[in-house]
Amino acid sequence: MNQNLNSKKVIVRVDYNVPINSEGIITDDTRIVKSLPTIDNLIAQGAKIVLMSHLGRPLKELKEDGTINKIKFSLEVVAKRLRELVQTKVYFASDCGGPESEKLISQLQNGEIVLLENTRFVKGEEKGDVAWAESLSKLGEFYINDAFGAAHREHATTATIARFFDKDHKGFGLLMDAELKNSDRILNNPERPLTAITGGAKVSDKIALLENLIDKCDNIIIGGGMAYTFFAAQGIGIGKSLCESDKLELANSILQKAKEKSVQIYLPIDSVSADKFDNGANIIVTTSKDVDDNMMGLDIGPKTIELFKKVILESKTIVWNGPMGVFEMSNFSNGTQQIALTIADATKNHGAFSLIGGGDSVAAINKFDLSDSVSFVSTGGGAMLELLEGKELPGVVAINN
Ligand code: AMP
Repeated sequence: MNQNLNSKKVIVRVDYNVPINSEGIITDDTRIVKSLPTIDNLIAQGAKIVLMSHLGRPLKELKEDGTINKIKFSLEVVAKRLRELVQTKVYFASDCGGPESEKLISQLQNGEIVLLENTRFVKGEEKGDVAWAESLSKLGEFYINDAFGAAHREHATTATIARFFDKDHKGFGLLMDAELKNSDRILNNPERPLTAITGGAKVSDKIALLENLIDKCDNIIIGGGMAYTFFAAQGIGIGKSLCESDKLELANSILQKAKEKSVQIYLPIDSVSADKFDNGANIIVTTSKDVDDNMMGLDIGPKTIELFKKVILESKTIVWNGPMGVFEMSNFSNGTQQIALTIADATKNHGAFSLIGGGDSVAAINKFDLSDSVSFVSTGGGAMLELLEGKELPGVVAINN
């Protein structure tokens, strides 16, 4: 889309699904801040900006009297924060596409913003309701999708609405564009070697990811709790470590597939084991093959850190999804921190391209204050995971078609 948007009404689907505490205060405004490049660009063009977003799942958590919990789910608090971040007027409509939205939009001056109430206050949103999407589409002459975090949802405002705009009247916002271009650097013609670092609790959450990555990567590092299912699959005792006993065969088939495709899989060679799932637990470091029957592996050990570091520092492209241990507890955070530092080192000093893709690895990179030291930190947990799994995102397809 390459259009003059001066004085045009432009609907922008953003992702303002921010964490809000019980007092109604936003505890992390990253998603609002990340929407600013697109919004500032539209302000500079003199567009009339209509912002739409969801926040949480309001219809699944109704109050006892059957009404919506507005303290928890209203976007009004986001409008307030936005007013502090942009140099223009920000209005808030207490409905989503109703009479108040229409009135405020009709009064907008060039470069001004109206944020509509939570799209999920309306049943039609999650159902992808065609009639509701069509009525929303009439609120603007252009539609921009900048909500990467919701691009894996086939909802009315993330996908269906795009049907009512032709190719010249719809497009991606700057954040969405950056997310797609950066993931493309992993998935299509990456500079090699390409190393995927995977971790987290469960293999079952990462099967599709591993299967797709085997077709793309030179190396796959497997850490975190999911590594123990791979050990158990090979008949190695893992004590009380996490294990998904119904996934043993699958773990073996992943190892076999990697072998066939000459992809190197790196599993931990030593473990920090604890006698209970507690930061104050008694700890010992053993080889991963010698985790005591009464202990559980909660972090990778020092020899593993050295092994993984070597692989990461030799890589030209790195994608990271999932922590190496229970990084929320200080006694089991070292492995994840060392891997985060090594990815930063590979990026800054060895010219690697690094993408932190999804959920808890994003939390980890922020916790260790390294988000500015890697190439790109994705804003979309589920959406990035699905992209890395090789799936097409409905929000992307809707713009491209
Ligand atoms: P996921 O959402 O699947 O990426 O899992 C992230 C969670 O995995 C974090 O909360 C970690 O504490 C947890 N985790 C990582 N390593 C282990 C481990 N060895 N044992 C138990 N939980 C782990």
